[in-house]
Amino acid sequence: MGRVYLDYNASAPLLEPAKKAMIEAFDVFGNGSSVHNQGREVHGRIEAAREALANMVGARAQDVIFTSGGTEANNLALTPSLFPKDMQPQARLYVSGIEHPSVLNGMRFEKDKITVIPVTRDGVVDVEWLRSELLSTEEAVDETNKNEPNKKQIKPLLVSVMAANNETGIVQPIAEIAEIVHEAGGLLHSDCVQVLGKMPLLLPMTNADLISVSAHKIGGPQGVGALILKDASVVLRDPLVTGGGQELKRRGGTENMAGIVGFGAAAVAVSESFAADQARIRDLRDQLETGLQEISPDAVIFGKDVSRLGNVCCFAVPGFSAETQVIQLDLMNVSVSSGSACSSGKVDHSHVLKAMAVKENISFAALRISLGWGSSVDDVERFLEAWEGIYTRAKKRGHAA
Ligand code: PLP
Repeated sequence: MGRVYLDYNASAPLLEPAKKAMIEAFDVFGNGSSVHNQGREVHGRIEAAREALANMVGARAQDVIFTSGGTEANNLALTPSLFPKDMQPQARLYVSGIEHPSVLNGMRFEKDKITVIPVTRDGVVDVEWLRSELLSTEEAVDETNKNEPNKKQIKPLLVSVMAANNETGIVQPIAEIAEIVHEAGGLLHSDCVQVLGKMPLLLPMTNADLISVSAHKIGGPQGVGALILKDASVVLRDPLVTGGGQELKRRGGTENMAGIVGFGAAAVAVSESFAADQARIRDLRDQLETGLQEISPDAVIFGKDVSRLGNVCCFAVPGFSAETQVIQLDLMNVSVSSGSACSSGKVDHSHVLKAMAVKENISFAALRISLGWGSSVDDVERFLEAWEGIYTRAKKRGHAA
């Protein structure tokens, strides 16, 4: 019996079409910037992948900037100079308290220029707080238009709110947030790493000005991502990686052609199977949650009453340590994450659950199950059987509610 993998939000297994396209691409050599035949061949493959990703999210191909992943795309987006040259730089950055660390760090904004947007206990960004903060203050009016009363007042700010959270799957009201930010004259960046492939046409749907995506969350390779701009009104004037003029001078360095090709192939495959796959995965998740609550009626499912991604179940049984569960499930060939798993591998109090005012004795018990394209009914049944075993033992010893 193979392993049960329920950690798609950490990384999805490579899709077969992505793997095939990458293996083929390894036989193609040359530098995409060279003018000779091989260079043009490499360039052509990169551009085809760019087109595929642009079609998937509803962007223009020239607005897709390939990066080394979602982390770099987020880092690249957070700069005070996203407006054209004749406008004021963004003076302030607003980020929600549940962002991925690659956004929370604020990158090229000074610490005292970063404001954290609160979230409600349901894990949703507090839209009313943002509305009153951005639309009722007079500060930070752009010098370029303050003497022109008839011209719309521009507040030079950048807001970054993720489309859905990686730990809880809770979906954020991005279109509503976009409306507020635009009314204030600012720009909205959205980390769409966890929603790519789960929601169609992300750019028009979110109305964000720039979005970050990552290949390995949709069945593409690790180490490839993209920052995608809405249109020519968003200008990335100050790249993070400089050198050659690649990616229209917005990200230097010879492109990772095979990785980009894999991303493009995954984008096409996911777009083709989108609707059927999402419905199937949601049914599996619902079946898993019904089973969980039959085993333990005390299990708290985070975000159950708000809009959530259909592939995630983040839950906690008070008193039942997530770390213990992850280790015991691993020994039974089941891979899941603790809600607070971070890149260093150590389990910490989750900043996401903390922002939702979840008490520490519950958040230390938070387990994250995330399903994806390869998940099956058998996976769900095997997880439930394994979990019931460890839960029953813990309960007998008084280690779980
Ligand atoms: N943003 C979110 C919401 C994520 O879940 C992740 C990965 O876990 C990232 C960004 C970083 O993406 P990458 O692993 O491609 O650097």
